[in-house]
Amino acid sequence: MNRIKLGISSCLLGNNVRYNGGHQLDRFLRDTLSRYVDYVPVCPEVECGLSIPREAMRLVGDPDAPRLLTRQTKIDHTDRMKKWAARRLRELEKEDLRGFIFKSRSPSSGMTGVKVYDETGTRLKKGVGLFAAAFMEKFPLLPVEDDGRLHDDGLRENFIERIFTFDRWRIAESTGRTAGKLVEFHSRHKLLILSHSRKTLKELGALTARGGRMPMGELYGLYIVTLMEGLKLQATAKKNTDVLMHIMGYFKKDLGADEKKELLEVIERYRNGLIPLVVPVTLLNHYVRKYRPEYLMGQHYLDPHPAELMLRNHV
Ligand code: SF4
Repeated sequence: MNRIKLGISSCLLGNNVRYNGGHQLDRFLRDTLSRYVDYVPVCPEVECGLSIPREAMRLVGDPDAPRLLTRQTKIDHTDRMKKWAARRLRELEKEDLRGFIFKSRSPSSGMTGVKVYDETGTRLKKGVGLFAAAFMEKFPLLPVEDDGRLHDDGLRENFIERIFTFDRWRIAESTGRTAGKLVEFHSRHKLLILSHSRKTLKELGALTARGGRMPMGELYGLYIVTLMEGLKLQATAKKNTDVLMHIMGYFKKDLGADEKKELLEVIERYRNGLIPLVVPVTLLNHYVRKYRPEYLMGQHYLDPHPAELMLRNHV
């Protein structure tokens, strides 16, 4: 698999850039995921010219348009941060990222659930850090997550599946846009999409069928927006079971009664939460290698991201 480029809040890699001179190292991101991705570290507070250490900050005011103030001295760094962010986002555009991992709860980098206070220091509501908000507005298609949410096995698998899918999309797109190429991309992702949303699969199927009757730019644009939205819906045990049963159907003439019984038992044990997804998928991959059904051999559902990340050992 290709190495892919991800933006990341710098302190998550162990860089001492936090307000107190410390870091917020995440070992999975630095030691494991880094074997497959190249990081582009970003620390909005340091890069916009603030020192290490510095006074801690928080979001204050309207949760939809908060200001970034230092906690004690109430110095307003909103304009400085926004100006820097506009420049940095133009640079990041050239990096052709496949996603971004933000530091949770930070008034600059937090992508969701950041505390917003009123002038008296009372907590009002939850908002979004200034840099994270600007990033998501500029790159609405890019998969984003924060370190806190990535501790959830399902969300982690979902995010990594999305960044690898987006990478395949960008590679496919770079070879030129044609209706035929879109059909091929779609066809190889059908089961992966089905594991997230039957509705999205239907919508994308209808879109690809309109191939010749729509300007290619518009078709590709609509396709990727719909795909990335659909993949945000988490794959559940029920949805995966449907896909596994569907795959099993391709072997009805190949497998003997005992093999079918064993496969059904394994799928059932997965559905009941007794074994992880990797077990039925490994067994099915064994039959794919043995019987070589052409359609299944091209399906990314069976191989969506590096197995060494062991993401399906936990879902
Ligand atoms: S949370 Fe963001 S602004 Fe704060 S230290 Fe980490 S990268 Fe820098």
